[in-house]
This record gives sequence, structure tokens and C-alpha cells, in this order.
Amino acid sequence: MKAFERVSLGIFPTPVHRLHNISRLLGTQVDVKRDDLTGLGLGGNKVRKLEYLLADAKAQGAQVVFTTGGAQSNHAMLTAAAAKKLGMTPILILKKRGVTARQGNQLLEHLMGTDVRFMDTDDYADIYAEMDRVGREMGVPYYKIPCGGSNALGTLGYVDCVREIAQQGLAYDHIICAEGSGGTMAGLALGAKLHMPGARVTGMMVDNDPFDQITVDLMRGAAQLLGADVQVSRDDFDLRDLCGPGYAIPSEEGNAAVALMAAQEGIFLDPVYTGKAFAGLVAMAKEGAFRPDDRVLFLHSGGAGGLFAVGV
Ligand SMILES: *Cc1c(COP(=O)(O)O)cnc(C)c1O
Repeated sequence: MKAFERVSLGIFPTPVHRLHNISRLLGTQVDVKRDDLTGLGLGGNKVRKLEYLLADAKAQGAQVVFTTGGAQSNHAMLTAAAAKKLGMTPILILKKRGVTARQGNQLLEHLMGTDVRFMDTDDYADIYAEMDRVGREMGVPYYKIPCGGSNALGTLGYVDCVREIAQQGLAYDHIICAEGSGGTMAGLALGAKLHMPGARVTGMMVDNDPFDQITVDLMRGAAQLLGADVQVSRDDFDLRDLCGPGYAIPSEEGNAAVALMAAQEGIFLDPVYTGKAFAGLVAMAKEGAFRPDDRVLFLHSGGAGGLFAVGV
């Protein structure tokens, strides 16, 4: 398969360990992949994607890196951290809806001296057009990273993650993650197909987008980049709706899952992504979706910044 350039931003491999108390409570062996410990900023899943995306930006000679997301986007904060580390100038053009106060990721962006702008729109197309306008006006080479870093190139980061887990000598029957823009889930699903064929990947949707199509498209795009000889389809993964009252709006079951993980394991999830995703795992266990000897892996994808802004 084809290999792509990466810049080194994080600390890999991230650890995997058993959640002993949770496993006992749920009657299922549950391990956690600690991608909250990826080693840049407060950690999180975007670091794996950014290693590919910023290598591409660098190869294209970009001086400015644009990205977008919600007002408390973990992805935007980590893009700023990564771009700064590599000597490029990040400009974040974020959606205005949500917590724009200097809390959580906004505080971290302020500490990094980041150029953060808000746009009062619900359409990312407006924001990408604004990036082009600002970039052309600056007259320097610039690079646009889509919301969540979820394009085919960014998705490769989570194909690697499954290979990394296999190289750690581990195999699972279920891999469970949050799905917000799709790249993480698509990468895990393609990675499982290539490197851990026995694993079924379930994405816990925390937004209302058409993730069945988004996931298939990203999987296909990533497989094409790799030149991997695989047939990708909607049957390759499962989805479950955990969005509740809306994207970035905490849900009761999500908050309960954040509290459960904190009280049982001393690990902090977040209300926007990982709390809702873990609530989905708990619901599956309660419904008997796991057989007694199934090995279940939960991807902790980070999100600490949001915990301190959005609250539970
Ligand atoms: C972005 C994010 C996700 C979702 O990943 P996608 O690739 O956007 O679907 C999950 N957890 C956290 C903490 C995130 O910041």
C-alpha cells in the first residue's frame, strides 16, 4: 500500500488498558485506547489526522493554516497548537453558535496567541469561502483543513490507529468511538477491514449529519489514497444515534456516562463526544449486544477542553 508523509506531532503508540471496574459493572471486558494522551495540547484524536494534513500543508509551502469548527472545537484548538509547533500561522474561523467565552478551548487558543474569528453562519461553505478571501488578501500560500480534519487524508490517521493496536498485540470484537465529522470512525472501520478483520466498529453519532454516507465516502477516499484493494460498503460498520438534544449540547445519558467513568476509573470524558459515545457503549452492554467473552475497545478521543467550557 502507498505511504504518505507525516509530520511528528504526538506521542505514539498511545496506551491501551483494561477498565476493570467498568468491566465488572457491565459484565463485559472493556479496554480503552487512550487517544486522550496523544501528547499535543490536551491530547485527542485530531493529532493523528493533523500529522498527515500538516505534512501536506508543509509540502505545499503553506505559511497560513485555516480550519473551522464549532466555537469550542477541539480540532481547531489542536490545529492551532500543531501549526504553531511547526512554525505556520493558524487562523481559526469558527461558527459563532455555542460557548465563545474565554473558557475551555477558547482559553487555550488565547494562551497560544491564536487568530480566532467567529462567523455567524450555520453553513461551512460560507466559512471556506471566507478562508479563500482572507488567504488571497494576505497574499501568502495557505492551506485549508476541513471541519474535524475529516477528509480522505486525515482519515489515514485512524487507519494507522488500528494497525497500531494490532502491533500492540491486541485484537477486539468491537471497537467503539464517537462520530462527529466522520474521519475517526471511517479510519477505524477501514483500519479494521485491513488490519483487524474480526473487529466490528460502531460509531456513536453526536451530530445529525448523514453519517452512513459520510463514513462510506471517507472510507472509499482513504482506501483509494492507500491503493488498498478492498470493497467498502455501508455493511462495514454500525451507527447509533447518541446526539440527544443536539451537537455540543450535553445529554442526560452522556453526562451520566461522564460521571460513571470519572467515579469508576478516574478518567475524564467530555460532554460533547466521548461521554455520549460511552453512553452508547453502556446501552449496548445493557441490551446484551456483547457476548460474554467479547473483547470491547472504547476509543477515548479526548475532549478535555470542551469539558471545562460546556460543562456537564
Ligand atoms: C472531533 C472529536 C471526535 C469526533 O471525531 P470525528 O473524526 O470528527 O468524527 C471525537 N471526540 C473528540 C474529543 C473530538 O474532538
